[in-house]
Amino acid sequence: MAGTAHAELFAPPSDSADTKNLVGLSREELEAEITALGEPAFRARQLWHWIYSKGVTEFAEMSSLSKAFRARLAEHFVVRRPDVVQDLISADGTRKWLLRFADGQEVETVYIPEEDRGTLCVSSQVGCTLTCKFCHTGTQRLVRNLSPAEIISQIMLARDALDEWPSTRLDRKITNVVMMGMGEPLYNYENVATALKIAMDGEGIAISKRKITLSTSGVVPEMERCGRELGVNLAVSLHAVDDETRDKIMPINKKYPLKELLQTCRDYPGTNNARRITFEYVMLKGVNDSPEDARALIKLLKDIPAKVNLIPFNPWPGSFFECSSNNAIHRFAKILNDGQLSAPVRATRGEDILAACGQLKSESERKRKSERT
Ligand code: SAH
Ligand code: SF4
Repeated sequence: MAGTAHAELFAPPSDSADTKNLVGLSREELEAEITALGEPAFRARQLWHWIYSKGVTEFAEMSSLSKAFRARLAEHFVVRRPDVVQDLISADGTRKWLLRFADGQEVETVYIPEEDRGTLCVSSQVGCTLTCKFCHTGTQRLVRNLSPAEIISQIMLARDALDEWPSTRLDRKITNVVMMGMGEPLYNYENVATALKIAMDGEGIAISKRKITLSTSGVVPEMERCGRELGVNLAVSLHAVDDETRDKIMPINKKYPLKELLQTCRDYPGTNNARRITFEYVMLKGVNDSPEDARALIKLLKDIPAKVNLIPFNPWPGSFFECSSNNAIHRFAKILNDGQLSAPVRATRGEDILAACGQLKSESERKRKSERT
């Protein structure tokens, strides 16, 4: 699936002309809308500040704008948030929102509080066209790309819910953003890029590129661009050390096999020892968790500034893999550590609300399935 053809096929629906959503427009696009109303360009900057720094959704509250201008804005535009269909909080504090967009499509967004940070896990597509065998999202058939508005509004909605506007406050709970929710972000590159540029803008949401990580299953043709244009941290879902195994569990490997993928990682812009690529490795019993696999992994990554995240496999209804035993996981981690590879075992979070890695899937789709049976 080439980027452009894919983007057209799975495009999000366009906005209705009479109430255009201002969220998700780039600075340039916002300026064009405002100057088209006959207003000076600096008004767009003020508006940007209200929308992204203060988090205001009502034009009436934008007190630095003239009343007449506010009224005109309200005639033509909205500052829209998605509907929250479900809001679940796990015993461990992880929180998951099921969001519904204007056309009824739904995605999940997850907030994971930790001692030293708070991470928001953001979705890029409804479902995923890639069918990694261990991933719940990959079993969901309905797929379309999210628009820039739908991506950025996940962050804005979470900020509303956690009561942490304006962006300038020092005690922000969401310190990190990971593009690790539903979907393959590099199959929706343009929209993800527009949204992340908005998220990184220092006069708006102001989350630094150092605090943003994009996870890909290995869409080789878009990776270099992601590093060059966005400069965000890269995480690669590796999950296997040879093509034979990876072909079986991640069909994308047939298109972009390990050798090509790892070369693209070597070339990823901005990588150095202080800024490593994260390789995600889901621990699947009897599939990829042997000591030989661990030794092969050290060899594969030896000339890449890398760290490995070992993810215990999270089961979901109907999944047929098993998670490796604790012993196997720790033995695997020790071999990597002895080989000078940092390899923390990622704590499973939010499992009781199906919010852990690979468990996301929109409720509507689950319901439809159960209605059928
Ligand atoms: N599509 C992107 C980003 C979303 S998935 C990607 O694949 O990288 C986020 C991470 O969760 C990926 O590393 C994915 O491989 C992992 N994952 C998927 N299913 C999982 C499961 N059942 N248990 C643990 N991790 C899983
Ligand atoms: Fe898609 Fe990532 Fe899940 Fe694979 S692991 S099916 S790429 S969301």
